[in-house]
Amino acid sequence: MSAVLFKNGNLLDPAQSELLEGYDVLVEDGKVKEVSDKPLSSGTARVIDIAGKTIMPGLIDLHGHVMATQLNLSSQGFLPDALVMMRSVPIMAAMLRRGFTTLRDAGGAGWGLKCAVEEDTIIGPRLFISGRALSQTGGHGDPRQRSDQLRPMSFCGCCFRAGDIGRVVDGVDNVRRAVREEFQMGADQIKIMASGGVASPTDPIAAYGYSEDEIAAIVDEARSRQTYVMAHSYTADAIERAVRNGVRTIEHGNLIDERVAKLMAEKGAYVVPTLVTYEALANEGATYGLPADSVDKIATVRTAGLESLQLYKRAGVKMGFGSDLLGPSQRLQSDEFRIRAEVLSNFDVIQSATLIGAEVLNMQGQLGQLSAGAIADVLVVDGNPYKDIACLLGQGDHIPLVMKGGKIYHDELA
Ligand code: ZN
Ligand code: ZN
Repeated sequence: MSAVLFKNGNLLDPAQSELLEGYDVLVEDGKVKEVSDKPLSSGTARVIDIAGKTIMPGLIDLHGHVMATQLNLSSQGFLPDALVMMRSVPIMAAMLRRGFTTLRDAGGAGWGLKCAVEEDTIIGPRLFISGRALSQTGGHGDPRQRSDQLRPMSFCGCCFRAGDIGRVVDGVDNVRRAVREEFQMGADQIKIMASGGVASPTDPIAAYGYSEDEIAAIVDEARSRQTYVMAHSYTADAIERAVRNGVRTIEHGNLIDERVAKLMAEKGAYVVPTLVTYEALANEGATYGLPADSVDKIATVRTAGLESLQLYKRAGVKMGFGSDLLGPSQRLQSDEFRIRAEVLSNFDVIQSATLIGAEVLNMQGQLGQLSAGAIADVLVVDGNPYKDIACLLGQGDHIPLVMKGGKIYHDELA
């Protein structure tokens, strides 16, 4: 892989709240070789002058679904597998274009897709996959309507519809087996539905997902693989039982209270809010086919979501960046920055999508920062994201260069 030398940029180090002016960054063999405020040189590298621009690490989205190709997830499972897979291709390319070089897929993406990205057959962010999310019968991952009891669900590990981003499994022994199957099929971490949700037809938001025995068994299996469990969860009660049983990251977490936020901080659990998805569902859900039952549930979690950011911040719970968008709304991924910046500092918000993302993925020093030895995920940005978060918004409009693993995927600076 060829070397690239970025000259004279303003370095965004997410550990420091100001840009560092006049930095050179040398990339070789997919890694950051050297970062310096003294001029660097290299005999063979392509030299790119980025004077006046910001150079920063690629962004990490900890909660997306590249296989959520339409808003109505209940009916997506009826689509041909090939159609769902093909629809995920432009979704992934657009994520990378927006500067997201890493995505933790929160259910749906499997090992095949991850391989296709790694071998550059398709273009997209580096994936950390969950396989299919585990849900109890009638939980957030059960797409069946009340009248649909006869629909064959993706109960077993080997035959499933690509459009079902979750699978239904109940009972301690069965969930253990399901977790083992997901690992056997390549999951990096396990996703469970630990409370009701918006986009599912028959589960109230406040419903618990899984018994504590089941959650504990799932966590135990994940720990046996030296990895962890991420849990979709809204209410303080549901979050408490997940965290008490060893869940490491709480997804959404909108209806948290102070007591449980403190418990999370104590246990070292993370939260991954996904506020943009409620804005998108409220604004355009009905237009894009979100069922009426789901539209009704949005209000319950939307306003509380913004308030929850303050609560988490005060309690000292680390927040990762998530988006959780579905179908045509996927284009709004970067708007999560805008929404959070209404409540938190730009510095905090950028840390969530870099350093904290790397921490959650157990990739500290590798992702989320530009230092010697890190994987070369690099963005060149017009403007200073610490002063104006808008330069990270849109479809990468202010990001003239995107590099992932030392390879340039978008280049307006040639
Ligand atoms: Zn969820
Ligand atoms: Zn999700």
